Amino acid sequence: MNFELNFATNPELRAFEDEVRTWLDANAPKDVPRAADPIRYTHEEFEWRRDIGRKLGAKGWLFPTFPSEYGGGGLDLDRATIIQLALDDYRIPVPPYYNSGGPLAAASILVWGTEEQKRFFVPPILRGETVTWQLLTEPQGGSDLATVTTKATRDGDDYLINGQKVFVGGAYEFDYAWTIVNTDPLAPRHQNVSWLMVPASSEGMTRQPLDLFTVHGAGESPVGPKEAVFFDNVRVPAFNLVGGENNGWKVATTHLEYEHGGAGHLRNIWVLDEFFQYCKETKFRGKPLSENQDVRDILADVWADYQVDKLLGMHTFWLHHTKRPMSYEGIQSTFYHRMFSLRTSQRIQQALGYFGLVSDPQWTPNDGRTEVFVRYGLGGLHGGGTHDTDRVIMSRRMGLGRNASEAAGQMV
Ligand SMILES: Cc1cc2nc3c(=O)[nH]c(=O)nc-3n(C[C@H](O)[C@H](O)[C@H](O)COP(=O)(O)OP(=O)(O)OC[C@H]3O[C@@H](n4cnc5c(N)ncnc54)[C@H](O)[C@@H]3O)c2cc1C
Repeated sequence: MNFELNFATNPELRAFEDEVRTWLDANAPKDVPRAADPIRYTHEEFEWRRDIGRKLGAKGWLFPTFPSEYGGGGLDLDRATIIQLALDDYRIPVPPYYNSGGPLAAASILVWGTEEQKRFFVPPILRGETVTWQLLTEPQGGSDLATVTTKATRDGDDYLINGQKVFVGGAYEFDYAWTIVNTDPLAPRHQNVSWLMVPASSEGMTRQPLDLFTVHGAGESPVGPKEAVFFDNVRVPAFNLVGGENNGWKVATTHLEYEHGGAGHLRNIWVLDEFFQYCKETKFRGKPLSENQDVRDILADVWADYQVDKLLGMHTFWLHHTKRPMSYEGIQSTFYHRMFSLRTSQRIQQALGYFGLVSDPQWTPNDGRTEVFVRYGLGGLHGGGTHDTDRVIMSRRMGLGRNASEAAGQMV
C-alpha cells in the first residue's frame, strides 16, 4: 500500500492535483460556511451542495473510479486519491449531499442490471444529476434484510408496490428510491426478494418525517433527518426491477458490500482535529485543557484510535481500487469505525463534560459539531445493520463456526 504520491518525480500527478485544487478554490471556496449538521441545513445550502455535486459529476470527479461509459470518471487510483484528499481538505463529502442510495444503486445496477438499465439509471447518478435514497429497513426489522414484507406484485408491464419503510432518507428532495421488496411471499427466505428503482414522483408514495430520529454521519458526511415512507399501490414499470425477479439476494450482496465499507475511505474526521485544537486553546483554571493530565490521557487515546480508523479505511480503499481479493476488510473497517466513534463520544464527554452535550453553538465547541459527533456515537451503531451484524459478517468471512468462509460481495 503506497499513498505517498511522489509529485516531484511525477509532474503529471502534481499538475492534476493543482487542477483539482484550483477548481475547488473557484467552485467550493473554504470560506463558504458549511452547516455543522444537516439537520440545520437550509434549503439554500442543500442547493449549493447539489450544484457542487453536478459540477463534480460533469468532470467525472464525483465517482472518479467508476467506468466513464456510464458517467464515472474512469480514473486510476492515484487520481482518485488526489481528488478524495482534496475534497476532504475542502470539507466536501462525496457526494456532498445525502445520496446514500446513489453509489449503492449505481454499483448494484452495474453488476446485476441489463445493459439498457445501466445506460438509463447509472449515468445520472454518477454525474450528480439525481439523488437516490436507499429504502431497506421496515418496522419489523432492519438487520435481517431477508424479512422484508413490502410487497411488489407483477401487473402487466408494471409492478404494484404496497408496504412501509422506516428510518430512511435524509435532507430534502430525492429523485429515486432504491428499494428492496418481497416479490413472492410464499417462496423460501432469500429466494423471494427483488430490487426496484422507484421514481420519487410516483403516485401513492408518501413521506412522514421522524422528528425524534435525527443524526449526523461520519466525518462531514450528511445523514440528516430520517423518515418513514409509505407505498400505497405505487405503480412502477417492470423495467425498473434490477437483477431479475426473486434474485434480489444476489443483488443485495453487492449493495451490502458497498454499504459495509467495502470501497474503503480516505477521510479525516475534522471535528476531532477541531476538538484537539479546542483543548489546546481553551483554558480551565488558568491552564489549557490539554495540560490537564486526565485530558491529555484522553486525547492520546482518541488520537491513537483515530489513526487506526484512518489506516483501516485507507487499506480497504487501496484493496478495492487495485482490485485485490477481499474478504472481511470492509466490514472490519466499518465495525472499528463505529466502536471508535462510540468510544470517542464517551471520551469527549469525559474531557468536556456539559459542553460536549449541549447543542447551543454559543456553548458547545466548534459551532456545535462536537455535540453532533457525540450524539451520533450511539446512532451510528445502527445504520446499515447494527454492530452486532458486523460481528456476524466478519465471523462468516473468516469461516468461524462454518466449514467454509463466506466470500465478499461482487463489486464494480
Ligand atoms: C443513522 C441511521 C441511518 C439509517 N439510514 C437508513 C437508510 O438510509 N435506509 C434504510 O433502509 N435504513 C436506514 N437505517 C435503519 C438501519 O438500517 C437499521 O436500524 C438497522 O438495519 C438495524 O435494524 P433495526 O433498527 O430494525 O434493529 P434490528 O435489526 O431489529 O436489531 C435489534 C437488535 O438485535 C440485534 N441483532 C439483530 N440481528 C442480530 C444478529 N444476527 N446477531 C446478534 N444480534 C442481532 C441488533 O444488534 C439490535 O441490538 C438507518 C439507521 C440509522 C441509525
